[in-house]
Amino acid sequence: MSLPEAGAAWPSAGGRGIALRIAGLVLLAPLLVLLWWHGSPWPLLAALAALIVYGGITTFGLSRRLRATQRAYELAMQAAHDGFWEWDPVGKRLQVGARLLEILGYRQNFLPDTHAWLELVHPDDRAYYNRTVSEHLKGKTPFFYCEYRVRAHSGEYRWIASRGIAVRDARGIAYQMAGSVTDITERKRHEDEIAFLARHDQLTGLPNRFLLAERLTEVLPAARLAGRKVGLVFVDLDRFKDINDSLGHRLGDHLLRAVAERLQAGVGEDETLVRQGGDEFIVLLPGIDGAEAAETRARALLELLETPFFTDGNHLHVGASLGLSLFPDDAADAEQLLRNADTAMYAAKRQGGGTVCRHTPEMKERVLHRASMEARLRRAIEQEQFLLHYQPQFETATGELVGAEALLRWQDGDEWIAPDRFIPVAEETGLIVPIGDWVLENAIACLGRWHAVRPLRMAINLSPRQFWSGDLLAWVLAAIERHGIDPGQLELEVTESMLLQAEGEHVSVLRALRARGVRLALDDFGTGYSSLSYLHRLPFTGLKIDRSFVGALFDSEGNYSEGAALVRAIIAMAHSLGLEVVAEGVETSAQLVTLRDLECNLYQGFLSGRPMAEEDFARRFLAAEEV
Ligand code: C2E
Ligand code: MG
Ligand code: MG
Repeated sequence: MSLPEAGAAWPSAGGRGIALRIAGLVLLAPLLVLLWWHGSPWPLLAALAALIVYGGITTFGLSRRLRATQRAYELAMQAAHDGFWEWDPVGKRLQVGARLLEILGYRQNFLPDTHAWLELVHPDDRAYYNRTVSEHLKGKTPFFYCEYRVRAHSGEYRWIASRGIAVRDARGIAYQMAGSVTDITERKRHEDEIAFLARHDQLTGLPNRFLLAERLTEVLPAARLAGRKVGLVFVDLDRFKDINDSLGHRLGDHLLRAVAERLQAGVGEDETLVRQGGDEFIVLLPGIDGAEAAETRARALLELLETPFFTDGNHLHVGASLGLSLFPDDAADAEQLLRNADTAMYAAKRQGGGTVCRHTPEMKERVLHRASMEARLRRAIEQEQFLLHYQPQFETATGELVGAEALLRWQDGDEWIAPDRFIPVAEETGLIVPIGDWVLENAIACLGRWHAVRPLRMAINLSPRQFWSGDLLAWVLAAIERHGIDPGQLELEVTESMLLQAEGEHVSVLRALRARGVRLALDDFGTGYSSLSYLHRLPFTGLKIDRSFVGALFDSEGNYSEGAALVRAIIAMAHSLGLEVVAEGVETSAQLVTLRDLECNLYQGFLSGRPMAEEDFARRFLAAEEV
């Protein structure tokens, strides 16, 4: 829909009409001047009559043309479902077309002037509307465009988009403005819906982190001005993965909704509860008085989750780990506040969960330490600072060598860095994937070299990340093929914590490996969640009793402790499932004798051999034969 150009006379008289009028004047004027010269009153009367007739004809013609143009314009607007308006900025008169009245549900001539119209504009939009109109009248904008709300006859507000243009005189002063409006209420509703979806979590309907980010940009400066504090609490459920894994995702979803509802009922009106994702929630505590008040609020949130949930017929104890960070005490901005609360939450997790931890400067050092460790790890991969040590494994009954466990070592210059220090960082950063691939390749290659002398077994530790990376199966099978070993000589060790994260595809990788004959052992048994269901569900061939149990076989007086009964039970249970049992960390002959009595199948430990370099292993166990 095009509008008349600014400044054009609208409607215009047209060039031909003007020429005719000038020609008439040129012919008539000398005659009238001549008569007037001779004292006749006729010229004056004739001139007056001519002026009246001319003015009448012109006005009639103009207004007819104007009405016709308006009508045509209005029809076009109606066809486009738009409403027409025309406004006189000087006289403040307003004329609106039928369609605009229809949009708003008013009768004809209901809106006589600017004032009446402004009354209908939503109070929140009035200033913006006035500004947009006045900017256009002043000639600052080439056309007028404004989206705003207008009160309809029903009392509801409707969104309209109004566009128009001013008609100006020779000095550029606007004496008329005309344009159209479109009803955009539907479009605005869709926009609002989309904006809502983008800022809320689908599962629980809670605000999400985008909305939180917006809230933080409002709340932090306000708190700073008021000299108050803002608390941010990270809430991570403690046993959610366990429940989700064993009872299924549907129940997991129900539980998350129930948690969201319970937390929502417990947060104050000015506080914001957000679902960050997974089993993580965030509570924003704006305008808090101090650290103590924030900690009290956080503890109250924790208590809310300590009562069991009753979901789908199950009583579920969830519990949570909470991390608290305060603005401006612990963090100078929103990003740091979020990071610190997250770090504090991990500290709560490390304390075994079910607690609240406030962020401390030492935690920051830990994060920095992690970052520098990551950089060092990347360098270690490039500079090939990793090597493998092999710890021998023996048959408990006979003492005969069966194989070895490959254990990763990192030597950076003179410094040996223990796996417990760097493997968690490698796992967090994903660097464990290339490192783990390197371990697999080198340990299998070593087994290949030994195989030429003696068919031993090799146990290799796997990290959960290696499953997620996707090509583990192909990588392992190719290495077996390349180094000419039998798949049954290879044992892959996984930990219970890894299995908690193992779902669908990862489990199928384990099954596929087992189907090819590769052995699978559950490492560090007894330290994790000890869910026996994994032993049934997954194709394990063996389990490794954690060294903490072996170490606790005897009490300080050398008598059997309760730990011995536990080890006996584990071995009996494993045997009933047809699993081979390996005891780790055997340091004394008394421990070995006991394990033999309990019919533990294999053992490894400092008593019979520490983890050692390949050459040492070959020298000690592969006799004088060349490897
Ligand atoms: P793990 O798989 O349970 O390995 C056994 C750990 O017990 C090794 O620690 C070993 O040196 C130690 N050990 C063996 N015998 C004794 C003993 O008699 N007494 C005592 N006190 N300790 C003994 P290490 O080498 O420090 O490895 C620690 C953990 O790091 C391993 O526990 C394993 O979970 C992980 N790890 C080691 N190498 C790899 C690897 O290549 N990949 C992955 N993903 N994890 C690895
Ligand atoms: Mg192991
Ligand atoms: Mg172990």
